[in-house]
Amino acid sequence: MRHVDVIVVGGGPAGAAAAERLKTAGADVLVLDKERFPRHKLCAGWITPQVMADLRLEESAYPHGLLSFRRLHFHVKGLRLGVPCVQHSIRRFEFDAWLLDRSGAECVQHAVRDIRAESGYYEIDGIFRCRHLIGAGGTSCPVRRSLFGGALSRTRALQTVTLELEFACDWRDADCHLWFFEHGLPGYSWYVPKASGWLNVGVGGMAMRLKQRSENIRLHWSHLAGKLQHQFGINVPDDPAGYSYYVRDFGEPMRIDNAFLAGDSAGLATRDLCEGIGPAIRSGQQAAHAIVNGTEYTLDGVTGASLGGGLISRCVDWAFTHGAGRATHSEEGIVT
Ligand SMILES: Cc1cc2nc3c(=O)[nH]c(=O)nc-3n(C[C@H](O)[C@H](O)[C@H](O)COP(=O)(O)OP(=O)(O)OC[C@H]3O[C@@H](n4cnc5c(N)ncnc54)[C@H](O)[C@@H]3O)c2cc1C
Repeated sequence: MRHVDVIVVGGGPAGAAAAERLKTAGADVLVLDKERFPRHKLCAGWITPQVMADLRLEESAYPHGLLSFRRLHFHVKGLRLGVPCVQHSIRRFEFDAWLLDRSGAECVQHAVRDIRAESGYYEIDGIFRCRHLIGAGGTSCPVRRSLFGGALSRTRALQTVTLELEFACDWRDADCHLWFFEHGLPGYSWYVPKASGWLNVGVGGMAMRLKQRSENIRLHWSHLAGKLQHQFGINVPDDPAGYSYYVRDFGEPMRIDNAFLAGDSAGLATRDLCEGIGPAIRSGQQAAHAIVNGTEYTLDGVTGASLGGGLISRCVDWAFTHGAGRATHSEEGIVT
């Protein structure tokens, strides 16, 4: 059996950020991921300046394509509001592999199945053993399932469902567009251009509210494809893929003994824009900090709102979730 101080399950942004901090502090850390990197990850790939700052990353230092857009266009019921901003887009295929590599941590390809807590240690599949364990395995994280199952029950009303596609496209509009509540969608659809002629488009909404409306997210995908054809002259291939994750429920700390949850495994995406990369990175870093310093693991400073946390955030949150779970909007966001 291989023994290390810390095992991180999942090498996405949460796991890579945790691994980097642990490695820098001199910890003996191993990342386990079921995929071989670079791996495909469904995501619009929109990252905020806060993400860049948390990663101490200058635009010019990123070795792959990074596009910066200067305006975010919000479309609501036929009204259009262009908000000046500086935001970025990356391709997750490249970004995640780069982050994991940059962490300096060893990553072993292994699909984690069985986790047992035994006399102060965690044993994984009878092969790996550690004192500290970080669950960063996304929505279906095995750490959450094995060790937190009884303690945390997910609030169904906070579950999102998405459909998206990233494809090569000779796009002309280099800004980001978001359409809210179109055709009654309890969520929004997006157009996110990327460097080197890539485009990501998709729709996301609250799963339970869609079900209550007896609607399928596919219907809203068709609406989006029609709009992009009509307004932008873009033919979207009808080949989207889906994924589901949870927005933030401000419940109990995501730690039991020396097991921690970070990123999507803890359901940390923001409640107004369902932004999850920033919260994943921050929570991964904070879990690492707690391990290295023997301190409490708190999610203070892990934002729960992307739109500033004020009235607009609250209204969008309410329109999406109808106030389900616990919420707070005291953090700063992307639009200031
Ligand atoms: C369609 C869509 C669009 C999105 N757009 C944005 C956006 O534009 N901006 C934004 O900020 N957020 C966005 N998000 C949310 C964002 O993608 C997630 O919040 C973010 O990826 C969470 O990172 P993570 O590290 O927690 O999990 P993940 O990135 O999901 O990484 C989890 C890792 O765990 C591994 N794993 C899972 N199970 C096991 C196992 N049993 N054993 C070993 N390894 C395992 C997986 O292979 C994976 O590599 C979007 C999400 C979707 C679905």
